[in-house]
Amino acid sequence: MDPQVRTAAIAHFDEHRAAFLTELKDLIRIPSISFPGFDAAPLGHCADAVSALLRKHGLNDVRILGTGHGYPSVFGQRLVAPGKPTLLLYAHYDVQPVGREDLWTTPPFEPSERSGRLYGRGASDDKGGAMMHIAAVSSWLRGAGGLPVNVKVLIEGEEEVGSTNLEQLLVNHGALLAADAVVIADSENFDTGVPSLTASLRGTVTVAIEVRALSSSVHSGTWGGPLPDPVLALAKILATLVDEQGQPAIPGIGKKVRVLSRQDKEGLENLPFKEPLYRKQSRLLDGVSVIGGEGTVYEKMWHRPSIAVNAIQASSRKQASNIINDSAWARIGIRIVPDMDPGETLNLLQDHLKKQAPWGVQVTVTPESPSRWWKTDTEGPVFDAARAALEKGYGRKPAIIGAGGSIPFVRTITDSLGGVPALLFGVGDPYAAAHSENESLVIADWECACRSLIHLFAELGEKQ
Ligand SMILES: [Zn+2]
Repeated sequence: MDPQVRTAAIAHFDEHRAAFLTELKDLIRIPSISFPGFDAAPLGHCADAVSALLRKHGLNDVRILGTGHGYPSVFGQRLVAPGKPTLLLYAHYDVQPVGREDLWTTPPFEPSERSGRLYGRGASDDKGGAMMHIAAVSSWLRGAGGLPVNVKVLIEGEEEVGSTNLEQLLVNHGALLAADAVVIADSENFDTGVPSLTASLRGTVTVAIEVRALSSSVHSGTWGGPLPDPVLALAKILATLVDEQGQPAIPGIGKKVRVLSRQDKEGLENLPFKEPLYRKQSRLLDGVSVIGGEGTVYEKMWHRPSIAVNAIQASSRKQASNIINDSAWARIGIRIVPDMDPGETLNLLQDHLKKQAPWGVQVTVTPESPSRWWKTDTEGPVFDAARAALEKGYGRKPAIIGAGGSIPFVRTITDSLGGVPALLFGVGDPYAAAHSENESLVIADWECACRSLIHLFAELGEKQ
């Protein structure tokens, strides 16, 4: 490929980046919250707005893809490079609820620029990702006169509610969505200005536990002494979930944890770790220890299981009085890593919780549906292309990272495409506050991500 074509595509983006940013702002103005109980109309408007953008920027066969359930996805494609690889570009147009509106400095659906950041619900998660795909395709078509690879774009409408219908959509439209690799724009960089390729995601095993000892709460003065307190019983049970160092202590749980590969170790060693920065990013208070035993914080977040008690309830602060509660409740979440099996982990957890119950209290454990971990090997031409593209787009080598969180649909997409390479790089950063108030996007990083995707098309087009 003539290197000037690539330069022309990049130059087009640089000339028109303000216009692309304006289009992103227009998407942010649409309150496309996919949670139940919110107005459905904005999702239709947003799907239409995305369709219009795809058409405007040169994609063909633009259409709404649905399964008859939930909110639809938007599809468009441009198959103009015979013999060249086909990329499926994924992002989502639905957003989270706004949280506490009074905590937003500017209204969530009125995009606003401050100190190099663009604020607004969906700025980084994930309308910025959708607009990255559109800007990259447009820059090639308009700036260089054509694309060096074939592209298919899929912008989903219910990622924030678990991508419930995505699997069926992929089954129904298998041939239409077939690709040689997928670019998933829905993740965060390691830090602002640090391009990052996400190579693993943890899965989840979650249960609710209820401990009962009495058929109703009683006066703690009149009755206290001989009666087991369900709250203390629950506290004793919960305390056995981790050891002194805060590591999971459920028997058998660590058995299947995969030993780190050379690639994983190298990735971890290359990460810049500064404890003060980590403490700031993780919101850790002064004097509170970093726990979890030996190893770096990233190894613990990405490659080892962890346990959290997400919620706990017995009576309430408001109703607190001198009673022995009849029952106590908690929600426990385990993050699982390769090669832990969700079903087996769930059984180990359930057995453990029941075995630890003191004083004959009644224990009920109710599982939620688990999600699997995901991990990719980062060897091979597609990953080499991605590393080169991110380095060119940001002017520095990408970090290979994991994500401690779970994105169940990544596995859904890669499995249904027959295990093709999946490139996870996004436009977020640790301060983007996705899902929280004052969500934002670093505009300069978003531009670097767009340039990286433009380079990726060239890198992959040149390889074949
Ligand atoms: Zn997202």
